[in-house]
Amino acid sequence: MSQILTTGSPLPFELFAIRYGNHSGRHQSDNFLNGDSHETGADLDYFVWVARRADQVFVIDTGFGEQAALSRGRRLLRAPSEALSLLGIAADAVEHVVLTHLHYDHAGTLDRFPRARFHVQDAEAAYATGRCMCHPALSAAYAVEDVTGFIRCVYQGRVDFHDGTEEIVPGLTLHRTGGHTAGLQVVRVWTKRGWVVIASDATHFYANLGSGRSFPILHSLGDMLEGFSTVRRLADSEDHIVPGHDPLVMKAYAPPSPELEGLIVRLDEPPRLTFKELCA
Ligand SMILES: [Zn+2]
Ligand SMILES: [Zn+2]
Repeated sequence: MSQILTTGSPLPFELFAIRYGNHSGRHQSDNFLNGDSHETGADLDYFVWVARRADQVFVIDTGFGEQAALSRGRRLLRAPSEALSLLGIAADAVEHVVLTHLHYDHAGTLDRFPRARFHVQDAEAAYATGRCMCHPALSAAYAVEDVTGFIRCVYQGRVDFHDGTEEIVPGLTLHRTGGHTAGLQVVRVWTKRGWVVIASDATHFYANLGSGRSFPILHSLGDMLEGFSTVRRLADSEDHIVPGHDPLVMKAYAPPSPELEGLIVRLDEPPRLTFKELCA
């Protein structure tokens, strides 16, 4: 891991999690490597995130659309591109999208962002188009049409490739952890409460990180476990870490306004529950 680039105090971002989907009826073995297949497991929520300040908007991940929801038996609450409008953001005007990785639930619906540049790790593009995708166990969470759409964006010159740790703008840095996929990256965002890390699938649930137990979809267990350390190091505290799929995120943080309860929360305000409580 190369050094962290940003120092000092850049202009803080507002930071939001938008819950756009859900999957219930899971078992412990769906959520934890070597988990019990007989025991009920927590629901998986699906999120995209927004980092916004006066001069810039960054959308982090684009989620999945109706087709993926139908074919994979997931509940789509609201198309992510439409959910953005609840924050006054028009998807077709967004200029920067960070893709934490190219799994179907993080990098679908790219066509809804026609003006965007997509920020992706070199290793993720190579992984999603290379030899590992010959193995169904590794390709299952990718959608070939989404990856094809991403490649079209490459050929249109709309992808910014990153390698390891990079600062996109002061106050927003990308960090490859790998583990879950070869090129998974987490996003570190400067807010009024300090450095918050959008961990995405570096930890699906608070409990993955809290107990050191990996989610079962993996490229490298070693990198996944190292990624836990990286996420902890990058965040100002455990209470500054935001997991990628945990329904408890909606309980931990407050909505920006009462009518957005259950849909959007503000991550730049302190959580109402501690990391320890969220891992229990
Ligand atoms: Zn994933
Ligand atoms: Zn995911």
